Amino acid sequence: MFNIIKDILKCEGITNVGMIPINECEIINERILPKDAKSAILFSIPYRSSTSKPTDGFSEYARIYDYHKFAQELYGRTIEAMKNKMGFDFYGFCDHSPINEKLAIAKCGLGVIGRNSLFIDKVYGTYIFIGSILTNAECKNTVDIIDVCANCQKCVTACPNDAILEKGIDRTRCLSAISQKKNKTHEEKQLLKHNNIVWGCDICQDVCPYNEKAIISPIKRFAETRVASIDKDFIDSLNEEEFLKYAFSYKGKKIIYDNIEFK
Ligand code: SF4
Ligand code: SF4
Repeated sequence: MFNIIKDILKCEGITNVGMIPINECEIINERILPKDAKSAILFSIPYRSSTSKPTDGFSEYARIYDYHKFAQELYGRTIEAMKNKMGFDFYGFCDHSPINEKLAIAKCGLGVIGRNSLFIDKVYGTYIFIGSILTNAECKNTVDIIDVCANCQKCVTACPNDAILEKGIDRTRCLSAISQKKNKTHEEKQLLKHNNIVWGCDICQDVCPYNEKAIISPIKRFAETRVASIDKDFIDSLNEEEFLKYAFSYKGKKIIYDNIEFK
């Protein structure tokens, strides 16, 4: 059965897939947990489609169409195929999952958890989104080892605002989170300016040695929608419908214009 699932996802460019019993997952939202869920299928959705490093201040994930829409369409196609081939029920999630997806995918042995708090896929590095599909099909895998990164400290040293702590990321100091705040202090604006940040921050990913050999995504959708350079003219050119296709749209255009202006 697991091989059928892997084959269906492989047709979508998703090659790193694991499966564990639901009782080995940390349940973080009981309310949305399907009552009959017995197993969780975890996989990386690699999104980096170029190794070029633009200097416009936008994070790599912000250059492509919002992955939530991709996940929705992916589940529309694959869950139907899984149901038809195996007869079980399948429920797709991405981000808003009833389980801790990062811990679950690490337990599947698909990569390690980094000091920068990101899951590091052994093939695609940190430039991935995690997807999960819960099912009422049984699974016998009992992998329960969570590997962590080599702890080289490069991300800790490179972080411009000392946001990487022993126990994870201090979101109040993280420049990615700060770039998404509507009301920023003068100090926060200066931090973004000095670090050339408009939206999101990839600094702790770019320095991570695991990303040196990470390969780019085979998923065409991300390559096709990637914008090589984002500036005020580009934002101006987007009508409302186009603008909403990008992850940076969720707080409106004004915050993007403001961030570009004080860069
Ligand atoms: S940069 Fe080093 S410490 Fe940070 S996540 Fe990568 S391997 Fe771990
Ligand atoms: S995203 Fe940037 S600011 Fe946030 S922890 Fe990583 S390096 Fe630090």
